[in-house]
Amino acid sequence: MDDWEIVAPMGDSRSGRLSESHEEHKNEDDTTGIFASLLIPGRGDPMKDQAILCSRKTGKIIYVGLSSRIPPKYYNVHLEKIPVVMPGMWECHAHFMGASPNKPIDFVNLALTSPPEAGARNARVIKDTLYAGFTSAVELGGYATELQRVIEEGSILGPTLYGSGGAISMTAGHGDIFELPYGCSRQKLSVNAPGTDGGAAVVVQADGVDECRKAVRLNLRRGAKCIKVLTSGGVTSRDDRPEYQQLSDEELKVIVEEAGRMGMICAAHAEGKAGIMAAIRAGFKVIEHGSYADDEVYKEMKKNDVMLVATITPLESILDNKDKYPPAMYRKTAELAKIHMAAYRNAVKAGIRCALGSDLFGGPGSVLSPGMNGNEVHLAVKTGGMTPLQAIEAATANGPLTLGPQAPQSGQIKEGYDADLLGLDKNPLDDIEMMRKPKNVKYIWKQGKLVKAPGLDPWDALDI
Ligand SMILES: [Zn+2]
Repeated sequence: MDDWEIVAPMGDSRSGRLSESHEEHKNEDDTTGIFASLLIPGRGDPMKDQAILCSRKTGKIIYVGLSSRIPPKYYNVHLEKIPVVMPGMWECHAHFMGASPNKPIDFVNLALTSPPEAGARNARVIKDTLYAGFTSAVELGGYATELQRVIEEGSILGPTLYGSGGAISMTAGHGDIFELPYGCSRQKLSVNAPGTDGGAAVVVQADGVDECRKAVRLNLRRGAKCIKVLTSGGVTSRDDRPEYQQLSDEELKVIVEEAGRMGMICAAHAEGKAGIMAAIRAGFKVIEHGSYADDEVYKEMKKNDVMLVATITPLESILDNKDKYPPAMYRKTAELAKIHMAAYRNAVKAGIRCALGSDLFGGPGSVLSPGMNGNEVHLAVKTGGMTPLQAIEAATANGPLTLGPQAPQSGQIKEGYDADLLGLDKNPLDDIEMMRKPKNVKYIWKQGKLVKAPGLDPWDALDI
């Protein structure tokens, strides 16, 4: 494709050549150059006419600013002209569990899915997640710890994954499988299982202080970057109730202590108030869902610097697709949805720091398939009442904060940060709904490398 006319974007003849081509120009020094007519930095106000240089060697941003100020050694770098550039987004509540699109999504089916089958499906849905504009994903129960190693080696295309390993659940808790005999449930969803007996790696069942401590260590052994704990019931399993606390204060405290020793923070699946308050008391730094949170909860969250990931996408999807879910799950969700949505809006009003997570856990092409993650950005505005700029900050700059000490420099377009960027044709601040559709995310650079562009075959974007 033709290069742009060699004109100085800021009236400066020194600036790099502009190109409209999506072909990656192989600059000798492995530098990717972009010229953004509008740059949304992740945190802070948008800026016009900015140049961004990234190193494909280090995967970091090396320059952001006026093209007229580009350091002389980069004068020859091609600049790809893109109307709007923003940071790659952070999916902060993912599940890559390998669910089948043709079976009801429940723990029994997940437990009976073999890891190779799950892995093959995951290869598809992590690529879909990346292509929706999510260059990083925090996974809270699933196979991300294993998948990340495969992504890193370059065999498959996906976001950078930060997994928790299996979510820690008490027996008869949100992660138990009530339909199976006790021993079977414990083994099939246990983190002991992967690679040994073919069970799903979604949940670690643990009771008592010693087992809770061990559950953290087992996740660490898999490569966890954070710890997920189910501190209240939820809507996906048969008998549990969102309003009651799950796991005792003593058990929760030992989990936080053990995770903290290894530099990890804890995220709580907490829908009812009792489970939320227990998590905050124990020192958790992220509340997932927060369905029944009230002013007292928000006060404690603020005091203890606890973040919220509200996960509205599945609520909307379940309500819109009654026939595709088990009746008990549908009934519970319908009860919960109104309250949960109002709580989200109140949390935003109360100034609680939010990151965005879509909690998508379905099979490829299903109603809850990862790949529709951008809907949560739209819902942050529609349901949560954020401004579009706040929603983008929640989807980008706030994402890494959910990892505490494990947070990488990411989610903002700043020198030294991960060179994960999105190129858009339109300004999402004018039309946030556009983020729902993966096709509106035209270009994606992950660690400085172009991985999505019109006409680019995803296989060609792989490193090996
Ligand atoms: Zn979840």
